[in-house]
Amino acid sequence: MTVPSSSPSYIGRFAPSPTGPLHAGSLVAALASWLDARAHQGRWLVRIEDVDIPRCVPGADHFILQQLATLGLRPDEAPLWQSRRGAHYAAALERLRDASQAYPCGCSRKDIDAALAAAGLTPERHGERVYPGTCRPAHGGLGGKPARAWRLLTAQAGVIDWQDRRLGPQRQDLEAEVGDFVLKRADGLWAYQLAVVVDDADQGITDIVRGADLADNTPRQLQLQRLLGLPRPRYLHTPLVLAADGQKLSKQNGAAALDLADPPAALRAAATHLDLTLTPGLGLPETLAEAVLRWRDRWRDL
Ligand code: GLU
Repeated sequence: MTVPSSSPSYIGRFAPSPTGPLHAGSLVAALASWLDARAHQGRWLVRIEDVDIPRCVPGADHFILQQLATLGLRPDEAPLWQSRRGAHYAAALERLRDASQAYPCGCSRKDIDAALAAAGLTPERHGERVYPGTCRPAHGGLGGKPARAWRLLTAQAGVIDWQDRRLGPQRQDLEAEVGDFVLKRADGLWAYQLAVVVDDADQGITDIVRGADLADNTPRQLQLQRLLGLPRPRYLHTPLVLAADGQKLSKQNGAAALDLADPPAALRAAATHLDLTLTPGLGLPETLAEAVLRWRDRWRDL
C-alpha cells in the first residue's frame, strides 16, 4: 500500500466487519466518520474488516458498500479488504517478536481458567479473561506445550493515557486490566487489534471515528502503535445506539436491517444519535450538506 507523499492532513475511515448488513448502530459510526472527514475537507476510506472469517457472512461486504452508496457515502479510494493483507500483519508480528515484545502461547481457555482460579482470581473481565502470563518468556515460556497463539507482552506498557474528542481524558493500566492480548489466534487468524493498527498506519489514517464500544480497545492499539513506531491518530468514539434491552444494538439483539427506501430519512435518524437535527423533506445531497454544517458546529473543534 502506498501512502501519497503529500498526505492530506485528514484521512478518516469506516471499518465495518462484514458480519451482516449495516444496521442503525453501524450507520451512526459510518455517518460520523464520513461527516468528520467532510467537515475537515479530508479523505474518507472504507476498510472491510474480514479477518474473523467464521463471523463473516458471504456477500455482506458488497451489500454494505451498496448500502453506503445508496446513502451517498462513497469512499475516496477503492476499499481495502483485510483478508488480503496477511503478509503485512505477519511482518508486524515478526518485528514485535524480534523486539521480544510478542511471544508464543500454548494455553487453552481451560488452562487459562485453571491458572486464574489457582491464583484466586475471577476469570472474567467484560467476559474476557486477563491472561495470567503463564507462557511469558520470563515465566519459562511454553514449557514444552505446542505454540497455539501469539500474545503481546504488556509487562512494560504501564498506564496508557489518551484523549478522546468526545469522552475526554482516558486511561487504562494495560497489564492489569487487559493483560497480554492475542495478536494471532490459535486458529491461525489475525487478531483485530494487530490488523487495525497495521492498516490504519498503512492507509495514513489521521482520525478514527467509531462506536464507543471500541473505546476500551484503544489502549491496546496505542501500545501496538508505540512498539511498531507508528503515528498515533486522533480518536472520537461516538454514542452507541442502544436496543430496548439497554445493550448495544447488534444483530444478536434484533437490530433490524436498515430501511433504505428513504435515504434522507435514514440519515436523519442516524444524525439524531449524533445530536444533530436535520430538516425533513430535503433531498439526499442537501441532507448530507446540512449534516456536514451541523457536524462542524457540534463536533469539529472537539
Ligand atoms: N471492524 C470493527 C467493527 O465493525 C470496527 C473497527 C474500528 O473501527 O476500529 O466493530
